[in-house]
Amino acid sequence: MSKYELPKAYDFKSTEPRVYAMWEAGGFFRPWNDPHRDGFDPSIKPFVISIPPPNVTGELHLGHVLFVSMEDMMSRYHRMKGIPTLWVPGTDHAGIATQLKVEQMLRDEGKSREQVGREEFLRTTWAWKAKYGGIITEQIRRIGASCDWQRERFTLDEGLSRAVREAFVRLYEKGLVYRGPRLINWSPGLKTAVSDLEVEYCEEPGKLYYFKYMLAGSGGEYIPVATTRPETILGDTAVAVHPEDERYKKFVGKKVVVPILGREIPVIADEYVDREFGTGALKITPGHDPNDYEIGQRHGLPVLSMLDPEARVTEVGGPYAGLDRFVCRERLWSDMKSAALVIKEEPYTLNVPRSQRGGEIVEPMISTQWFVNMQPLAENALKAVRDGRIKIIPERFEKVYYNWLENIKDWCISRQLWWGHRIPVWYCADCGKESVTREDPTACLHCGSGDIEQESDVLDTWFSSGLWPFSTLGWPDETPDLKYFYPTTIMETGYDILFFWVARMIMMALEFTQNIPFRVVYLHGLIRGEEGRKMSKSYGTAVDPLTIMDELGTDALRFTLLVGSSPGNDQATPPYKKIEANRNFINKIWNAGRFVTSAVSSGQAADTAGLDWTLADSWIWARLQSLVRDVERLFQAYQYGEAGRQIYEFFWSEFADWYVEAAKIQLAEGDSRAFKTAGTLARVLDVCLRMMHPFIPFVTEELWGHLRRTLLASPLADLAREWPESLIVAPWPEARQEESWEAEKLTDFSLLQDVVRAIRNLRAEKKIKPTRRIPAIIIGGTRTSCLQDQAKTIFALALLDEAHSEILKGLPQKPEDHVGLVVGSVEIYLPIAGMVDQEEQRVRLQKKLTEAEKQAERLEKLLASDFSRKAPEAVIQKERERLAAFEDSMAKLKTQLDSLT
Ligand SMILES: [Zn+2]
Repeated sequence: MSKYELPKAYDFKSTEPRVYAMWEAGGFFRPWNDPHRDGFDPSIKPFVISIPPPNVTGELHLGHVLFVSMEDMMSRYHRMKGIPTLWVPGTDHAGIATQLKVEQMLRDEGKSREQVGREEFLRTTWAWKAKYGGIITEQIRRIGASCDWQRERFTLDEGLSRAVREAFVRLYEKGLVYRGPRLINWSPGLKTAVSDLEVEYCEEPGKLYYFKYMLAGSGGEYIPVATTRPETILGDTAVAVHPEDERYKKFVGKKVVVPILGREIPVIADEYVDREFGTGALKITPGHDPNDYEIGQRHGLPVLSMLDPEARVTEVGGPYAGLDRFVCRERLWSDMKSAALVIKEEPYTLNVPRSQRGGEIVEPMISTQWFVNMQPLAENALKAVRDGRIKIIPERFEKVYYNWLENIKDWCISRQLWWGHRIPVWYCADCGKESVTREDPTACLHCGSGDIEQESDVLDTWFSSGLWPFSTLGWPDETPDLKYFYPTTIMETGYDILFFWVARMIMMALEFTQNIPFRVVYLHGLIRGEEGRKMSKSYGTAVDPLTIMDELGTDALRFTLLVGSSPGNDQATPPYKKIEANRNFINKIWNAGRFVTSAVSSGQAADTAGLDWTLADSWIWARLQSLVRDVERLFQAYQYGEAGRQIYEFFWSEFADWYVEAAKIQLAEGDSRAFKTAGTLARVLDVCLRMMHPFIPFVTEELWGHLRRTLLASPLADLAREWPESLIVAPWPEARQEESWEAEKLTDFSLLQDVVRAIRNLRAEKKIKPTRRIPAIIIGGTRTSCLQDQAKTIFALALLDEAHSEILKGLPQKPEDHVGLVVGSVEIYLPIAGMVDQEEQRVRLQKKLTEAEKQAERLEKLLASDFSRKAPEAVIQKERERLAAFEDSMAKLKTQLDSLT
């Protein structure tokens, strides 16, 4: 038998791409039960996730790494549970983002999109996509994503474009989409409408401008009005006051004069007006303010557009026509000052609407756009969550979801862009009617005229991503994939796109598939920058994940982000040191793996019949079973971060620090003990690697492969006989009920740990070199036989001089020149009195005594209370025993204190 040895250090650089290629080539990312494969069984329930499609323009940031790792973890866990698992990958065409990229590229060549024209621009954009669109998916592969790449989709691909077309036509036929002039958010720089959700409100310092609305034909009477945007005065069509406002009641029905322009507008009464705000009188600009727009609708006021698409003043603004909005503000205000119409200016904190994409100030404007009537769709979406068909994790977001859907506004879906799904509406030049069809028409459907032209706008990107969970599976066709994999299982995404995306998918799915799109919505928190800001391109990213993966490995980064996450809560950008610490953890795993494989490969077959497990064996196995139970419970409760933390703790602090050390002693015994120990090491490592795999897939797969090959080539081959070839499809460890022997073994081993720790601490304090073996007398009292059984392990782990150390039941008197330690009811004497300061020793003992007294007092109180009548007898007995142990400990500490001179 050849000895099989692992490389000394784990080389993630060469391992990661090799292991990923192996998975992909092995077809492990495809569900094992698949309608396109032989032996397909439609009755087996699959686990399905559709990836939140990253933008094709995307460059990997930490947010991507988090969601990809999270979904990969979920997929791997379910795959290992034997459930047919499908994770559908894809990318989003990202209308504005991509168009801006290509426009920039053209600008660099000295061209504009208008110069090249729509057709040429789209050709250029597709070429750009072909060249750069794969970058983000390559980066997602690097994270270890176990997506079924054969099912990869793109929101503008042929199938998805057909789905978008079908969805639009159906909504149109049902009368749920309409076109009309409405007040929308206009982005002057991008020259397109943006939806409410694409506007971010920023608190910024500004001014409140007070001025006079002069009454028409009166000698100097006026209504004082305040505004934050004086330029909009040019578009005013009324002044509104509260109907019960004594100050202004008399003016209602009269006319006032628009400053500078001289236009006369009415004074109206409306309960919407807040008497406390500003002057209590409100200028009404229906063309440029959503609230004013609604008041205008109620009172039948005219709507004036005083800004053009580039935010320059229109002819409505008379002498100011052609000026930029902010220049106009200055000019008009200065002119009003000269005309004695200004009262005062005050500093004021504004809530400025800025475009999420471009950052510039968005203007509410009247524009003719396409809208979806959301009310009927929202009702179904509310119901689906209320009746529990869809569950939102964490639950607190359900309220947010209800609130948004209950107050939903119509969705402006048209965008004045070229890159996207062109709206399938043709306008007839002859009869003026619209033709909306599934196939491109050649003539007007109403009058047959050939003089038709397609709408030039495209659809909001979120329209196509709203269909994502079913369009990617083949909808509108009843494909085998759609039949089997839909509805999907979990939608995992950031809570920041609950409305943008999640709510819309639910509405669209219920409308088009009469089914929910997914059963669970899992919302992860965001990764915040150092100042608590959302990480995004526009703020720049402090941590570049690609660099981190180059330097510390993918597993270290994945583990850091996964363990730092909890549902719905943000996490701070992890400092480099933290990722480094997890890289050390990965190395720790590798080193433990080297130790185990070497123990396995150097083992000689021996007869282990009749050989009992050691206390350490039983303890690590009981601890491992308890970990398996906890991890399963945490996974079921979506507490993935906590599960990761517990696995880490177990592996490092229990397996590596204690069991491996104890195992070294057992291996040294040789023969059947060594053989049995090698088997236990291999079994514990195997279970750990399986549980760690969803978190850190690369190192676990690599190490497990080594473990498997080593076992198969060893006398322990039986252990690995049934294992599959790759860890990615190895069965997930099954949680089993706690067995009756476990509790006692845990207690005994923890006594052993306490004794060893006490001695180690004193040694460290006294700076006794690890090479120096010292003798000890351990007085075990009632625990003597348990300790005597473990003598060898205790002596070795505490670095004691085995030949001169002993474990006794009792001792008539304290040995001379010894320092005493008390661990529960166990006393330890070490002959190092000369090295220990008497006063220090007194303080140490006194501290322990005080602590024991406190505990005893607490237990006495507890046992004297109602507790002793209400609690079950077994529980009370346990507390009595604890009290007795503390009393015993106190007595021993007192004796030792008395013996100090
Ligand atoms: Zn026509």
